[in-house]
Amino acid sequence: MSDKIDIKSMNYEELEQFVVTGLNDKKFRARQIYDWLHVKLARSFDEMSNLSRALREKLADQCELTALTVVKCYVSEIDGTRKYLLRLPDGNIIESVLMKYKHGNSVCVSSQVGCRMGCRFCASTLDGLARNMTASEVLDEIYVIQRDINERISNVVIMGSGEPLDNYDNAVRFIKMLSDANGLNISQRNITLSTCGIVPRIYDLAGEDLQITLAISLHAVTDERRRELMPIANKYSIEEILKACRAYYGHNNRRLTFEYSLVKGVNDSEEDARALGRLLRGINAHINLIPVNPIKERDFRQSEANAVVNFKNKLEKYGENVTIRREMGRDIQAACGQLRKNYIDALESEE
Ligand code: SF4
Repeated sequence: MSDKIDIKSMNYEELEQFVVTGLNDKKFRARQIYDWLHVKLARSFDEMSNLSRALREKLADQCELTALTVVKCYVSEIDGTRKYLLRLPDGNIIESVLMKYKHGNSVCVSSQVGCRMGCRFCASTLDGLARNMTASEVLDEIYVIQRDINERISNVVIMGSGEPLDNYDNAVRFIKMLSDANGLNISQRNITLSTCGIVPRIYDLAGEDLQITLAISLHAVTDERRRELMPIANKYSIEEILKACRAYYGHNNRRLTFEYSLVKGVNDSEEDARALGRLLRGINAHINLIPVNPIKERDFRQSEANAVVNFKNKLEKYGENVTIRREMGRDIQAACGQLRKNYIDALESEE
């Protein structure tokens, strides 16, 4: 990374301050610059046509303007889902997904390059964590896609590669800037953050007073079983996670989502469904069942379709609100993190 100022990660107040004290210019310039960066989605200072050439040169001198580039885009012929491989300014590759729904366009963003959480069913973690992403890089995943399709993005899920609460400050900054009325102004209610359950950070997040949906990757009903799937379970028990969730709800009054990946023969029995229903009793929850995507490096298999439906029916008997995640972009099938991994493996085998 260069040592220039990452201007696109500055929030509105910080930019105002920088324009006045760093650039020695008028305060109203900040509004113009912020508008170019976060509404018009400019990719260079040269595009900022209502700024003087001198100011544009000064900006280019002192600041870097984070702009991701599309390496590849796979488009589903079935449902229009687009999976993007994007290059970060330092050459790292990440992936983002656009899903088209009747209610609008939704983007699933990555928040780290790789991940160090080690969940057994996830391809993003196979090579560990390379680095955290900056707020500007995560924002630009959305900006690049909005520019590409020339349609507004209305929903965002932070559920791609990386654990957002392991990159807490940048993740929170990203959410605040994404929902800023001076920027893209995406409602916080349309933003979901998914975590594997870093308990202290859930309490921190509750204190931020955000209106986002918190999604917990639960995936098992006992600590013992969860530890087999997710190393983070060695650190925090399910009980501790649920206690933090109750605190989050107490603060924000926002219904929680629990993600449960169904792995054939591992956690998809009727007994598991009953145990999950008992576990979440009394919590205002939405349960999202995800038939797990097989990845070639692990031997997990997807639950049979009837096992998924049985699981859902059992849970509903407990009064739970349950959905089965619709598989988007089936014809461009790639588990989370798999596109990036395949691309990097192919590059390495060419060398
Ligand atoms: S599921 Fe999420 S937290 Fe777990 S390894 Fe994959 S990216 Fe990391």
